[in-house]
Amino acid sequence: MTNKLKYFIANWKMFGDLKSINILNRVNTFLIKNLKYSKNTNVIFCVPHTLIYFLANTFKKKSLLIGTQNCHSNRTDGSYTGSINAKMIKNSGAKYIILGHSENRREGETNKIIRQKIDSALNQKLKIILCIGESLREKKSKKTFSIIKKQIKDSLSKKFKLNNIILAYEPIWSIGTGRVPKSNELQKTLKFIKENFRKLFKTRNFPKVLYGGSVSPKNVISFSRINEIDGFLIGKDSRSSKKFIDIIKNYYK
Ligand code: PEP
Repeated sequence: MTNKLKYFIANWKMFGDLKSINILNRVNTFLIKNLKYSKNTNVIFCVPHTLIYFLANTFKKKSLLIGTQNCHSNRTDGSYTGSINAKMIKNSGAKYIILGHSENRREGETNKIIRQKIDSALNQKLKIILCIGESLREKKSKKTFSIIKKQIKDSLSKKFKLNNIILAYEPIWSIGTGRVPKSNELQKTLKFIKENFRKLFKTRNFPKVLYGGSVSPKNVISFSRINEIDGFLIGKDSRSSKKFIDIIKNYYK
C-alpha cells in the first residue's frame, strides 16, 4: 500500500507569468544539488495553459516535469470558444493534468464530464491527477466515504489505463483555509480510497493517493508519519520556491 517514491505536485491555479520561471529554476537547482531528495521524489508543476509550452521546453531534461490543469472533454477540435482539449495540451509539452478539482466541480463539472475528460486525456497519454473530496457539510453528516466512493466509481472506468491515474484526496473544507484533517482521520480515508479502488476495479495494485489542502512546510511534518500518503498536491505554498522546497525538506526530516 505504501510507495517509496513520493509526489510533490504544484497546482498553480490561475497564477503565474513568464517571470514564474524563477520559481522552477530554484526548485530545479535544489533537486540537482540534493540527490537524497530528488532520488525519492517526483516533482511536477501544474501550470496554467499559457505557460505549458515555455516551461516544458525550458525544463525538458530537468529534474521536474510540467503538467497543467483542466481541459475540454472533447477529444477532437471543435467550436468551443475559449477551450483547450487534451491533444493541444499534450502537443504543448505537458505530461500531467489535474482533473476534477473542486473549483471546477463548483462551476458545474459533473462526474460524467470528468470521466469524459479523463478518457480524452488518457487517449493523449497524459497522466491524470484526479481530485476527489467532500464538502464540510458532507463531512459533518458523515458522508465522506460515500461521496468519495461515488466520485471514484462515476468518473473512472475499468477500461481506463488505471496505472496512469493518481488520486488526490482534497477535502473541500481544507483547500485554502489552513484547516487540515486529523492524522487518524486522514489515514482512515486514504486506506478507504485505496481499498475501495482495488475492489471496484479488481486490480492487484493499490492506486497512488496524494493529500491536498493547505499543505505547508509546518504541517507536512505530521503527514510524514502517515504511510498511506504517496505525496501532496500543493496550491498556495507551491507559488513560493522557498515554501515548496521547505515542504520537501520537512517531509523527510
Ligand atoms: C488545491 O487547490 O489543489 C490546493 C491544494 O490548494 P491549497 O494548498 O492552497 O489549499
